[in-house]
Amino acid sequence: MPEITQELGQIGMEVYMRLLSVIVPCYNEEENVRDFYDELFKNAAFFQQKELEVEVLYIDDGSKDKTAQEVRKLHEEDNRVRLVSFSRNFGKEAAIYAGLQKCKGDLAVLMDADLQDPPSLLPEMYAYIEQGYDSVATRRVTRKGEPVLRSFFARMFYKLMNRISRTEIVDGARDYRLMTRQVVDAILSMTEYNRFTKGIFGWVGYETKWLEYENVERRKGETKWSFWKLFLYSLEGIMAFSTVPLTVASLMGVLFCLLAFILIIFTIVRKIVFGDPTSGWPSLVCIILLVSGVQLFCLGIVGQYLSKTYMEVKNRPVYLVKEEID
Ligand code: UDP
Ligand code: MG
Repeated sequence: MPEITQELGQIGMEVYMRLLSVIVPCYNEEENVRDFYDELFKNAAFFQQKELEVEVLYIDDGSKDKTAQEVRKLHEEDNRVRLVSFSRNFGKEAAIYAGLQKCKGDLAVLMDADLQDPPSLLPEMYAYIEQGYDSVATRRVTRKGEPVLRSFFARMFYKLMNRISRTEIVDGARDYRLMTRQVVDAILSMTEYNRFTKGIFGWVGYETKWLEYENVERRKGETKWSFWKLFLYSLEGIMAFSTVPLTVASLMGVLFCLLAFILIIFTIVRKIVFGDPTSGWPSLVCIILLVSGVQLFCLGIVGQYLSKTYMEVKNRPVYLVKEEID
């Protein structure tokens, strides 16, 4: 008995430091790598006070500039900095997935390299984790500094998405999110190839606190998202988290069948009552065009889902690593 008490005592004496993993996806961010590091460690006093160890995990998503080199330099100065380099550009979703897989922390936070996710928000976020929340997410309430048309379409997308999907996707939600190991593991358990992180966060659930802040403009460099890229990304989101378009396609089919049926009866009745004047072929052409258009549209929707399924079934890796520095 005395032995056990002694042992327990020793465990109790040990100071348990929690490890916070900061995951930073980078694509051509050479100018921001160091700025981000400096800005993050302005919270050094806070990390110390809360007994948080920190690791900064830069995911170099196949950058064509000196991003990896910059991170290597930082690693030489501070071994809390880690690097995972991809063999090519796999996209931010892949970078997030890799970061979550490779991070060792009890807590993990996702942040953009361009400082649009202010590190100064971390103490407030951490306070909510201490209160017992599993994850603390952020959303921007303004879209200041963004083209008007882009904001408009973004709003439309979120409205539509929340109507046709059972997974809640919050308007203005950023990927800036602090979460516990449990949530990280939950996200990692979703091994799908077509990753739409905003949907995945909603899908896994858990107690989430939302913090709001004003949009911050990117520090240096340029955004990697063109309007067209964002548009395709939104389609991806819809397909990953909703099958409503397929239902719409079937409903349209049913509707057109009904319409055709009514027209057939109408034509037969007209023939019996008025004889058969050969008229109306222009309208016939219009109808054929319309209906074949709708058919192609619906086939297209089915094709999109099929192509997603095809990619899933291939079971390709989400990313490939070229270099890793621990
Ligand atoms: N990013 C990435 N891979 C990509 C595109 C972007 O890892 O293919 C990173 C980028 O370096 C940045 C973050 O994702 O840290 C957000 O990108 P960006 O600032 O271009 O997007 P925005 O803030 O304009 O939505
Ligand atoms: Mg940005």
